Amino acid sequence: ALRLDDARSWVARFIERIEERHQELTDLDRRAGDGDYGTNVRSALRRAQRTLENAHPDTVAEVFAAVSDGFLRTGGTSGPLFGMWFREFARAAPDGLTAARLALAAGNALAAVQRLGHAEPGHKTMVDAMAPAAAALAAAAADDEDVLRALARAASAARAGAESTAQLTARRGRASYVGDHAVGVIDPGALTVAVFFESALSPAS
Ligand code: ADP
Ligand code: MG
Ligand code: MG
Repeated sequence: ALRLDDARSWVARFIERIEERHQELTDLDRRAGDGDYGTNVRSALRRAQRTLENAHPDTVAEVFAAVSDGFLRTGGTSGPLFGMWFREFARAAPDGLTAARLALAAGNALAAVQRLGHAEPGHKTMVDAMAPAAAALAAAAADDEDVLRALARAASAARAGAESTAQLTARRGRASYVGDHAVGVIDPGALTVAVFFESALSPAS
């Protein structure tokens, strides 16, 4: 199972990669939204990082709860949606994450985001990466895969889902206001989900 130190380095790598890529994420939102996405996500994760540094979490749940709280306290449509999504990872991980626990988390997390935002796959949102990742984790758990193999499957499903958003016309969020002008632009929320799962794998990936 994935333990406290694994969860901490997973989240640390995620924060680091978003720091490196926030400008690129903002540029995507500028082409298909209002151009604040990278700033929103970076402030949420900086809040999370401060909590992690000051509060010294001693469970996996507390690591994901810090990320969730960082997003819930940040503006933008993505803040509450990611806040609810990460909250389900915290709730499913009392002391360590197995493939089965991750599958449960990702399923509940997707449901929470859809309850709040009413986006379906194909609407060009973060859901386009969250839904295939949840399906991949469920399949990996059913195959009794170990947690790293399950995360690798989630990462490639999320990446493919994120890339698929380039061809889509947005049906939710601000990108839907610009219609076909956003075709060709990857949804930054979906890309963030792919980066999150990829961050669980090796530091070099
Ligand atoms: P805002 O449009 O308020 O500036 P952000 O820039 O913080 O919001 O977030 C934009 C991201 O939010 C999009 O890339 C998309 O992934 C996601 N999003 C927008 N609306 C929805 C929705 N209804 N359901 C799921 N995700 C959504
Ligand atoms: Mg925006
Ligand atoms: Mg905005």
